Amino acid sequence: MPQTENVDVLIVGSGPAGMSTALHLIDADRSWTGRTVVVDRAVHPRDKLCGGGITGDGDRVLEGLGLRYDGPQVLVQELELIYRSHNHSMNGDPVFRVVRRNEFDHWLAKLGQKQGLELRQGEAVTSVVPKRDHIEVVTDRAVFHAKVVVAADGSNSTVLKELKWNRTAGQARLLEVLTSETPDTRAFQDGVAMFDFSQAGAGLQGYYWEFPSMIGDQAFLNRGVFDSRVQSRRPRAALKQVLSESFANRGRDLADFSLKGHPIRWFQSDSPVSAPRILLAGDSAGVDPFLGEGISYALGYGQVAADAIVDAFARNDLSFVGYADRIQAHPLLSGLKTRVALAKLIYWPRMVWQQELAWRLSSMILSGFQRYRRGFGTRTSTG
Ligand SMILES: Cc1cc2nc3c(=O)[nH]c(=O)nc-3n(C[C@H](O)[C@H](O)[C@H](O)COP(=O)(O)OP(=O)(O)OC[C@H]3O[C@@H](n4cnc5c(N)ncnc54)[C@H](O)[C@@H]3O)c2cc1C
Repeated sequence: MPQTENVDVLIVGSGPAGMSTALHLIDADRSWTGRTVVVDRAVHPRDKLCGGGITGDGDRVLEGLGLRYDGPQVLVQELELIYRSHNHSMNGDPVFRVVRRNEFDHWLAKLGQKQGLELRQGEAVTSVVPKRDHIEVVTDRAVFHAKVVVAADGSNSTVLKELKWNRTAGQARLLEVLTSETPDTRAFQDGVAMFDFSQAGAGLQGYYWEFPSMIGDQAFLNRGVFDSRVQSRRPRAALKQVLSESFANRGRDLADFSLKGHPIRWFQSDSPVSAPRILLAGDSAGVDPFLGEGISYALGYGQVAADAIVDAFARNDLSFVGYADRIQAHPLLSGLKTRVALAKLIYWPRMVWQQELAWRLSSMILSGFQRYRRGFGTRTSTG
């Protein structure tokens, strides 16, 4: 039997939510390095299925820590929003950046390690049991008695399953494919990404996307479909079929490529985000069902979780009763309720004219978001 290890804060998961929590703790007081352990079942640089699009919101959370990601990335200067023959372009400098998640998350992990943080990789959490004065967390190598546990272990969170908080509602479905490209196309020359909402008629409550992405020197388009399922009673879109048609419309055969899928849990204000000694952060707590944006929110959750932990230890009250209110008070995370409402509105229509109206509304809303950032501009055309 492994020896029991006592720790003040055990963070499960070293993605953006887990590492942001750790980095914000260390930023609050260096002594948290010795009081915090992060465990991850994967080993960095690990694969994470993700478009890798990070908006200015994520940058601002990192800036608060004095950090800026300068690793490999593609700057998206133009985002095309398409609905059938309608086209609306948003420009920005950049609109967002496309990173490779294995590199970005590895960068975050190394930042923590450089500051002395104990990050145990290749160690999976298998059991979580709340006890009277600690949480017992069993991994495949150790037994932890943690005063506080942060569940930052993603959409398929083991911690949530162990706590029986798992729910199937509020899960968006995504499929993703990488296609090798030549770098002489507009996507790479001008930094153009695209969201295509045309498949609403096929029951898709979301869009098809294309993001320019670089793996080393090789250009790829990161393509996929996002189905928010905010209208959960509606029949499910045949996701693979939708993606296959989107490929065929662009002269590609989906069968030629390897396809991967993963869910995103989206925020629901009536779902628990904390319990005594336990906090959820990132996908496990829920992110955005409108566009499927999760990286910025995960970074934001880390900031709120760290603030709550520092405060809880200072007051010797680990109940975390006020954590949901802290989330609502955060300038970025408070917008999640609006994103849920928007998704329910935009992905509600059944009739074509309603979908067209929804598309116009969503392009206006997206342009509105963009106006908060520097260097915006928009252009609309109907053909
Ligand atoms: C196909 C797809 C495309 C996406 N595109 C975008 C995009 O372009 N932009 C955007 O903002 N968001 C995007 N998202 C959402 C984004 O990927 C997530 O919201 C984000 O990764 C959430 O970060 P996190 O830290 O909460 O979880 P994760 O990044 O999933 O990290 C969780 C960590 O926990 C670890 N873990 C899991 N279980 C255990 C266990 N039992 N024990 C120990 N460790 C464990 C995992 O190994 C992992 O490292 C996309 C998602 C998908 C599926």
